[in-house]
Amino acid sequence: MDVVVVGAGIAGLSCARALAAGGARVRVVERGRVVGGRLASKRYHGRYADIGAAYLVADDPDFAAQLSSWESRGLARPWTDTLRVHPGGAPATGPMRWAAPGGLRSLAADLAAGLDVSLSAPIDAVPADADAVVLAMPGPQAVRLGPPPSIVAAAKAQTWNPVIAAVLTYPSREWGEWHGAFVNDHPALATVCDDGDRRGDRAPVLVAHSTPGLAAQHLDHPESAGPILAEAVGEVLGLSAAPEVQVHRWTYAQPEPVDARYAVDGRVWLCGDAFGRPRAQTAWLSGRAVAQALLG
Ligand SMILES: Cc1cc2nc3c(=O)[nH]c(=O)nc-3n(C[C@H](O)[C@H](O)[C@H](O)COP(=O)(O)OP(=O)(O)OC[C@H]3O[C@@H](n4cnc5c(N)ncnc54)[C@H](O)[C@@H]3O)c2cc1C
Repeated sequence: MDVVVVGAGIAGLSCARALAAGGARVRVVERGRVVGGRLASKRYHGRYADIGAAYLVADDPDFAAQLSSWESRGLARPWTDTLRVHPGGAPATGPMRWAAPGGLRSLAADLAAGLDVSLSAPIDAVPADADAVVLAMPGPQAVRLGPPPSIVAAAKAQTWNPVIAAVLTYPSREWGEWHGAFVNDHPALATVCDDGDRRGDRAPVLVAHSTPGLAAQHLDHPESAGPILAEAVGEVLGLSAAPEVQVHRWTYAQPEPVDARYAVDGRVWLCGDAFGRPRAQTAWLSGRAVAQALLG
């Protein structure tokens, strides 16, 4: 069986790995210059900051096993089970959040190792030369490839929210022992995480994620959201220094959950994090579920 997987995010890579392990011939095509998609670590002044997913959480035993495999090879580590909640600043204990010393994208790179992956290879139509095609991406991006009707319907049933991420580099670590915070009822700021703490290098770098509302207002000029996010972080954390600010726009950042593992129409499949709670684990499971269905 020849399969083309379009998209080298964690969904596409988990699908491709499972297919290859099951004996299928798999090609992955990715429009970006690197793998990972929203599992994204971008280099600023020679240092990677995690600008997409903030951390990984596992409550599925198989994804937990994947995390353990990464941990045993030094690629991932338990980061914290305690984040703060603002206003109030109270610590909130939850599931263990996992981080990656080399940036979360390094985990996608590990999944891609040994696979046939073409980078900088944007696809503009569903490839014709394969027994099966897996579109491993947000539905609105899949619709642009002219997929068959059930895939269009499934993609159109997805609802996506945008996020603008701001990487804030300070002169020094002005804050104390603190991992990250959820910010409630703020017009601009949704979360802020200590990137130096989660990566483990103690760099004076925070990464802020905007609310969908702020992102929607600034989608055409995301850089204009940078100072707003920097000011909000300073206010929430009581910081006095002005950071250097870099922003990244995620037009399709977070989906509203859909109740299915994937969608299929003939030889075309759609998977990704819209098929469940919007997190990397869901994407990994969705991609693998497509592979299992194809192999079965
Ligand atoms: C700001 C933000 C914060 C988040 N926080 C968390 C978190 O803390 N914890 C968590 O678990 N999850 C978090 N997530 C969600 C997590 O990042 C995603 O669930 C996961 O990375 C999605 O993987 P995916 O493979 O489904 O999609 P993607 O990562 O979007 O991968 C799709 C890939 O398809 C490629 N592609 C698209 N169109 C084409 C084309 N035409 N041709 C070729 N390639 C194409 C894209 O370039 C991309 O690489 C966050 C996401 C964002 C944006």
